[in-house]
Amino acid sequence: MSNPFRDLPSVTKVLASPALAGASERHPPDAITVAARLVLDALRGRLAAGEAIVVDVDALATEVLAALDSQAAPVLRPVINATGVVLHTNLGRSPLHEDAARAAYEAARGYLNLELDLATGKRASRQGNVRAGLKALTGAESATAVNNCAAATVIALRTVAAGKEVIVSRGQLVEIGGSFRIPDVMAVSGAALREVGTTNITRLSDYERAITPNTTTLMRVHCSNYRVRGYTKTVELAELVELGRKHNLLVIDDAGSGQLIDLTPFGLPGEPLISASVTAGADLVLFSGDKLLGGPQCGIIAGRAAIIEQIEKDPLMRAFRLDKMTLAALEATLLLYRDPKKAIREVPTLRMLTTPLAVLKQRSDAFASWVRAIPGVTVGVWEDESFVGGGSLPDVSVPTIVLGLSAPGLSETELATRLRTGTPAVVTRVQDGRVLLDLRCVFDRQEAELLGAITSAVSSV
Ligand SMILES: *Cc1c(COP(=O)(O)O)cnc(C)c1O
Repeated sequence: MSNPFRDLPSVTKVLASPALAGASERHPPDAITVAARLVLDALRGRLAAGEAIVVDVDALATEVLAALDSQAAPVLRPVINATGVVLHTNLGRSPLHEDAARAAYEAARGYLNLELDLATGKRASRQGNVRAGLKALTGAESATAVNNCAAATVIALRTVAAGKEVIVSRGQLVEIGGSFRIPDVMAVSGAALREVGTTNITRLSDYERAITPNTTTLMRVHCSNYRVRGYTKTVELAELVELGRKHNLLVIDDAGSGQLIDLTPFGLPGEPLISASVTAGADLVLFSGDKLLGGPQCGIIAGRAAIIEQIEKDPLMRAFRLDKMTLAALEATLLLYRDPKKAIREVPTLRMLTTPLAVLKQRSDAFASWVRAIPGVTVGVWEDESFVGGGSLPDVSVPTIVLGLSAPGLSETELATRLRTGTPAVVTRVQDGRVLLDLRCVFDRQEAELLGAITSAVSSV
């Protein structure tokens, strides 16, 4: 009987293959040896399992090179978001405005006056300008920013309610994307959750009856990613504030999505306006920076100066504080809001959310005519619906325009997979036997690349 392992080449022999000749310019020698060993080990395993394999040294060397190239490439890479979902958590939520992206880039690649007042040469707060911008936009006395809204909730509750009770309606015990659950966040903060009411009905009297000498806070949590409909009753923030004042309790509003400009006129009702929460008298309002605000991932706490000051003194602040890149991007994003009309036009998240259907239709028709020129593709354009995503506006379906693609000889899932795994990666929706492309979240600068991606996805049918 022949020994199948006899033909197995040595590592040295694989390394000597011409296929690996240029590898040492791109990869460290140790990594090349390790990769070759791994490829040979895998082959040995297949031989041991009884597979009949013709061993080809050059083919093995090519496999080693492919493994090395894939190790050297970052996993994170730009994706064209053709899903139409503007706040797509899996795709990084809000894209940044060029000014914000550039600010982050400049902050990253050099030094900056992060904690230095250039006028006096003295140490300054890293939050200074962000605080000023947030105060102006929300009307709050003060504000601070941490890593995300989850961190904002933990540190705010810890500061005002550790070891004490916080009253929340049972209709508002939300879970956002798996790991953020109000009861768990509450537990981490050290505050005791006191649930009141039922899933659909919570009255002011429910809150009032639950108040004990140990209660410090009434909390409202926005039902970001769901709605309770039908026979329902919730307590308005202003009523909670009134009750809080009467009993000397604080009121925290976890608003979630961070709407700074009223989007109702654009057909997007139902998210709390941050300035309205401040006006209603909430002591602290918490929201994300990368949802409707359209900035970098962060969590903002706006409210009473004395409490913000206390929060900033918490040792956790050091763990939760923003890095220089995020601060620079947030500051640049907030500057765009000085002119609300400009913000709607230019902050990518706001622009995408408010793109008129007619504009999207015109753009989609033009793009479809280019796609039609690609051999082997059929494309149609029609009206459809999408959602905002990112735990915002869960029951507002946004009318949109889609391009429906199909390629004879390719299943819709195969076409979607090819687009997703190509370069650039294109993420689409698959529906009713077609791959749907929504140009709402595709930047103008990406159109040529998208066309190229479609061409290569269908070219090897
Ligand atoms: C999204 C959301 C959070 C979590 O925000 P992250 O910034 O993702 O941590 C918390 N509370 C509410 C109400 C939200 O909508």
